[in-house]
Amino acid sequence: MKANTRNLENFWMPFTANRQFKQTPRLLESAQGMYYRDVDGNQILDGTAGLWCVNAGHGRPEITEAVARQLEKLDYAPAFQMGHPIAFEFAEKLAETAPAGLDRIFFAGSGSEAVDTALKIAIAYQRAIGQGTRTRLIGRERGYHGVGFGGISVGGLVNNRRVFPLLPGAGHLRHTHDPARNAFSPDLPEHGAELADDLERMVALHGAETIAAVIVEPVAGSTGVLLPPKGYLERLRAITQKHGILLIFDEVITGFGRLGTPFAVDYFGVVPDLVTTAKGLTNGAIPMGAVFASRAVHDALMQGPAEQIELFHGYTYSGHPAACAAGLAALDIYQREGLLTRGASLAAAWRTAMQGLKDLPNVIDIRTIGLVAGIELASRPGAPGARAYDVFVKCFGDGLLIRVTGDIIALSPPLILSQSEIESIAGKLSDAIRKVA
Ligand code: PLP
Repeated sequence: MKANTRNLENFWMPFTANRQFKQTPRLLESAQGMYYRDVDGNQILDGTAGLWCVNAGHGRPEITEAVARQLEKLDYAPAFQMGHPIAFEFAEKLAETAPAGLDRIFFAGSGSEAVDTALKIAIAYQRAIGQGTRTRLIGRERGYHGVGFGGISVGGLVNNRRVFPLLPGAGHLRHTHDPARNAFSPDLPEHGAELADDLERMVALHGAETIAAVIVEPVAGSTGVLLPPKGYLERLRAITQKHGILLIFDEVITGFGRLGTPFAVDYFGVVPDLVTTAKGLTNGAIPMGAVFASRAVHDALMQGPAEQIELFHGYTYSGHPAACAAGLAALDIYQREGLLTRGASLAAAWRTAMQGLKDLPNVIDIRTIGLVAGIELASRPGAPGARAYDVFVKCFGDGLLIRVTGDIIALSPPLILSQSEIESIAGKLSDAIRKVA
C-alpha cells in the first residue's frame, strides 16, 4: 500500500510536524546493510545509521537470531531482588569494552533513562560521601540529553525546555560553537578551550558545595555536530576534579565506534566519572541504555547494612533479557569486524568527501570527526531551518537519508560503509544543496 493511502492518524509521532508529515509521508518498510527500502519500493542509502544507532548496519542475522533464541528461552524476568544470567553476562562483556575503570554498569531502557539515571547516581554519590548539599546539576547550552525531566533540565535546547517545569538549580555552561573563529577547521577547533572556565564562574557564583555534577556530550550530536575545542574537555576534567564535582560524558551518540574509537573517552583521553550510552549498545535493534560508573562512584554507594537497597532507582526493563541478547550479539559483531575502530581508517576519506562540499552555495561550515559530519547552511532570512529541511526532503527523494537540526545537516552512517557509499552520500548531498536555493 502506498504511503499516502494509509491510515496515519493514530500514531502520534515523536519530534515530528505530524500534520505536515501525514500530508506527504515518508515510510521506511525494510532495511538491509547500508540501505532502507520505503513502502513504494525505493532504495534509500542510510546516511544516519537510523538515528545514530545502527552502527553495524541493518538486518544483522546474528542479532535477530540471538534475540529470538533469548525470547524462546526467557522472555522477561524482573531485575529487582532477582536476577537472570544474561544481564550479568552482558554487563561483564561491556565492562571489557568500556573505558578502563568505568566498569560498573546500570541498565536502563533508553538514552533519556540512562541520562536521568546518571544524574541521580551523581546526586546519590555526593550524599553517600557526606556531600548532601551537592544537588545542583550543570549542563551546557546546545546540549541534548534526551527528554526526561532531568535531561531537559541540563539540556540546552529551548524548544525542549520552554513548555515544561525544570529541575531547580540546573545551570548551563556556554556552548562551544564559534564559527566566526573556527569555521572549516580541518581538525578539532583551535579556539574555545577557555569556555570550560565557565564552570569556575559557576563555582564562584553558587559554591562548589552545591554542585553535584556536570554533564556534557564530548561531541554534541543532536544540536548540530559541535566538536570540543582543543583542550576543552581536559580543562573541564581538571576543574571538576579540583572542586569535587562529578563529570558525566553523555556518549549516547559517540559510544560504540562513532568517532573511530570505542568511546569518546578513548578518542580524547579524558576520563569522566560516569558515561551514559544507548543506541549502538544494541545496534538499535532493541531499546536499551546503560550507565558506566567508576568504581569509586559505585563503591561509595555500596555502604551500610548489606540487606539495604543501595540505590532506590531502576526500571522494569533494566537488563531486559532480549535487549541483553541483542547487545551481546552486537558487541560480538563490533569486535569480530573491528567496527569500534573502523571509523579511524575511513575518517580521512570521509573528511575529504565532506570538505569537498565546501564551495557549494550557502555552506558556511563543515565539521567532521570519525564517521560524523555536520554541514552548516546559512539560514534563509526569516525562515531558520527551512533550507536544510528542503535539502532533507530532496535527498530523501533522491534515495539518501540525512538528518537536519535547524540549518545543520548531520551525517552519521553505519560504520560498515564503503568508499563508494561515501562518494554516493557526498554526491547526492552536493546535488541537493546545489538545487535547493
Ligand atoms: N543523549 C544524547 C547525547 C542523545 O543524542 C540522545 C538521543 O539522541 C539521548 C541522550 C536520548 O536518547 P533516547 O532518545 O534513546 O532517549
